Amino acid sequence: MARTVLITGSSRGIGRQIALEFAKSGGYNLVINYKENEQAAKEVLNEASKFCSCIMIRADVSKKEQVDELYNDAFKKFGFIDTIINNAGVAMSGLMMDMSENDYSYIMDTNLKGSFFVARAFLPSMIKHRFGRVINISSILGNVGASCEVIYSASKAGIIGLTKALAKEVGGYGIRVNAIAPGLIYTDMTKHLDIKNLEDNIVVGKIGECTDIAMAALFLASDKAQYINGQVLSVDGGLLI
Ligand code: NAP
Repeated sequence: MARTVLITGSSRGIGRQIALEFAKSGGYNLVINYKENEQAAKEVLNEASKFCSCIMIRADVSKKEQVDELYNDAFKKFGFIDTIINNAGVAMSGLMMDMSENDYSYIMDTNLKGSFFVARAFLPSMIKHRFGRVINISSILGNVGASCEVIYSASKAGIIGLTKALAKEVGGYGIRVNAIAPGLIYTDMTKHLDIKNLEDNIVVGKIGECTDIAMAALFLASDKAQYINGQVLSVDGGLLI
């Protein structure tokens, strides 16, 4: 029987590729989520539909009511959603002293509070079924921090704490909670960076691809990772920072 996975922020970038790899794997129904880019989400839906049953749902993960609706709509279509991937995220560069309270809320509410809202909405049915997988997309910056990315780094460090604590809280119900910490991956979020310069700091000599993260997510969701819980898997090509 097919399992069902929700990937937040799957209209573009890493989330899009995670959605397509789960679809192609043949073992999952798919819930595609987006905030603004309906057309991009439709394209993911069209492509994924060749391989599996899927639905796209607009919801801003930073808004509790919208996350609750996301849960209800996904449940109506598929019933039990056993896997959630908290991927939706935003970044903003600049000196911390130039950041406003609004900037702080925007980043923290999307990245950290959004992960909390989504996990909280979907966990009760996982607990009921004594089965579930939660995969949170953190960042290498959550481990090491980066200048001019203070709020983003804090939000991603928060996701690591959330992951480790929640794994302990719900592990007894057959629910595994893990995080992935991507290094530098080429997406809309990073396309403005000086990639060539940055690649000198990556052991494998090149920036990562969305597929690299998607494969890690597919593995963590699978039974091949049955003994992995509360961990942060770095997928960064050996980033030297
Ligand atoms: P991206 O290309 O900018 O895509 C972001 C995705 O998140 C889009 O699908 C966007 O939806 C969605 N999103 C943003 N705010 C949302 C909200 N409030 N509610 C629902 N969806 C929302 O970013 P990416 O590079 O793929 O990043 C994906 C995740 O990986 C993020 O958590 C990011 O922090 C993390 N990460 C990325 C890198 C990297 O190098 N790229 C490295 C480490 C970690 P719309 O299209 O509808 O706006």
